[in-house]
Amino acid sequence: MANISSEFEKAIEIGRPPNIVKLFPNSRAMIVSGKVIDRAMMAKGKAMTIAANGRNHFVIRGALAAAQRANAAIIIEIAKSEGGSSAYCATNFWNMARQVDAVANELGLTVPVAIHADHYGIKGPQDVDTGKFEIPSMFDAGITSIAIDASHLPDDENLLANISLKPYVPEWAGYETEVGEIKGKEGLSTAEEALFLIRGLNAHDIFPDWIALNNGTAHGIQDSETGIQVPLTVEIHNALAKYKISGAQHGTSGNDSERLRMISQETRTTKANVATALQMITWGVKVNEYGNAILDEKGEFLKMPDKGVTEGLWADIVAYADEMGLKGGNYKKLNLPFENRLHRLPRDIRERMAKGVEDFVYGLLIDVFNSQDTAPLAIDAILKAGSYDMGTKGSRIEDPAEWTDTKIRERAAGLNVDKGRAGDFDD
Ligand SMILES: [Zn+2]
Repeated sequence: MANISSEFEKAIEIGRPPNIVKLFPNSRAMIVSGKVIDRAMMAKGKAMTIAANGRNHFVIRGALAAAQRANAAIIIEIAKSEGGSSAYCATNFWNMARQVDAVANELGLTVPVAIHADHYGIKGPQDVDTGKFEIPSMFDAGITSIAIDASHLPDDENLLANISLKPYVPEWAGYETEVGEIKGKEGLSTAEEALFLIRGLNAHDIFPDWIALNNGTAHGIQDSETGIQVPLTVEIHNALAKYKISGAQHGTSGNDSERLRMISQETRTTKANVATALQMITWGVKVNEYGNAILDEKGEFLKMPDKGVTEGLWADIVAYADEMGLKGGNYKKLNLPFENRLHRLPRDIRERMAKGVEDFVYGLLIDVFNSQDTAPLAIDAILKAGSYDMGTKGSRIEDPAEWTDTKIRERAAGLNVDKGRAGDFDD
């Protein structure tokens, strides 16, 4: 590696996308396209990085500090349910980049960071119409990567929604698509339906950076033996190999380190979302080695006195949850009402909240995800491209005449898929 600091200077100059340059003209924060992060993981090989859901400000601080310590490229994200127009977190699509930029400058970060809008959920035609103005507003606010998630819809509608909305995503931006909701062992994705989506997009000159599957895990707190199905993931990624797409893994909280290590070592996954575990750690709730909250016999969380928030604030959180009838995973709804209460805590408490996240994320990056020292690889990718725009990995293979709206609907009718039960699985 040549002179890191001159490379950093050059990458700051050419590697920040236009929306970031416009928003933060004098910033030293290396906010980049999600594509850059994916390329860095691919360059290292058998590596994935954390996409940390910044449900509160202290998660963002801790995750960024961990990335710097591990010299790893990283993604900070928030999902539509967490931080969209009707959200339960104070971090949202429109203030997340501002928070990251401020913290990165404050801490003197030199690692590249992408700002990802996760689960941009599309549940019908109205959401497609809304997306046409909402997606540009998010990029205006500093988003550099997005997951269009129409996986709640039938396969043909999912594909058509992606085709309709892709023009509203800048060419340079990271782009994830999803097949199958993340909901445990029901309705597992198949190579057939993943191929349907990716072939159809390819025919329309759309080349996603990532695909998310329902490969056997679930969001939130895990209470079953179900976990990520590694062989199924390998099979689907292999079936998609010629389209040059990486995997995005959702629902990692509650999968043990060994399973997550297998995902990074055996599949083409470069992005691993972690949400619930990080929120729990900022609060000081007891989690096991892989971040799954430990509940007592009454199904209550165990708060550790020397970790996270103060005992006084925790008592208020629990009382409020009881009043609202919130238990278990639904504690996530407490993020918005309590954000300002977190910020007003004494400094040493705020520092231990962020530090808890930092230590946990550092351990994942170094010991489990294999993303140590990927920051220089991201900078190399920018210098090699000579631009913030990495271009696409894939190129067109499919015949557009075979993927018209009519043919898409005909093909979908012939797919053999099991979508499993309906429900609310969107963050
Ligand atoms: Zn997810």
